Amino acid sequence: MRRKLAAGNWKMNGTGAALSELETLSQSHPQASVDILICPPATLLSRAADSVAGTEISVGGQDCHLEHSGAHTGDISADMLLDAGATSVILGHSERRVDHSEHDEDVRAKARAAMDAGLKAIICVGESLEQREAANTLDIIGGQMSGSIPDQSTGENLIVAYEPIWAIGTGKVPTLEEIGEVHDFMRTRLERRFGEGVGRSVRLLYGGSVKPSNAADIFAVSNVDGALVGGASLKAADFSGIIQALESA
Ligand code: PEP
Repeated sequence: MRRKLAAGNWKMNGTGAALSELETLSQSHPQASVDILICPPATLLSRAADSVAGTEISVGGQDCHLEHSGAHTGDISADMLLDAGATSVILGHSERRVDHSEHDEDVRAKARAAMDAGLKAIICVGESLEQREAANTLDIIGGQMSGSIPDQSTGENLIVAYEPIWAIGTGKVPTLEEIGEVHDFMRTRLERRFGEGVGRSVRLLYGGSVKPSNAADIFAVSNVDGALVGGASLKAADFSGIIQALESA
């Protein structure tokens, strides 16, 4: 029912030379039974979109402004991402929540702008280690979901990524039971808020130190519909391993 998704977040990595990884990736997956998305830095988006045109890979942004245009030096609107060839945009990543003091209401406004422009919003939620150790994980995730996800969300325009902050780029991964508990919780929250039809159609990704070696186990967890991958998306060979694991799940 829900098409699985392998999404790569290149963060602030990659110049023109990195586009060769995209070419390798598209050649490795001439046909794919899952969706494949790469979110390169904004400077590469347009060239990346050209290089994957006609392949199984789509490209997305890593953030957008909440307004369509205007006096916001250095910012990029959802309409601009769409114009550059993006299908999706990552919003509320913990690095943006920390580096740019983004709060749930900011993420929600950006998600509205993205959806209005016709982009899929990949909204990230996740707890800190302190919050997990204080047994507050589900409260934090529930609060972030209520605050960040706009009312206009559907299975078509919303994807939610559970990314425990302490697992991002650290090599640490929650247990499969912990991942399952949060994903089941997120599914229930979506069903309660949007009804069963929409709630069941929204894709839920896990993110945080996903690698080819742990991907199959993670993808076997209920309500995990794919992954949002940082470091291991930079090299086509690593990301391919994750895509293959998702195709076999
Ligand atoms: C991320 O930042 O979205 C992420 C999941 O990073 P990594 O895979 O490197 O942990």
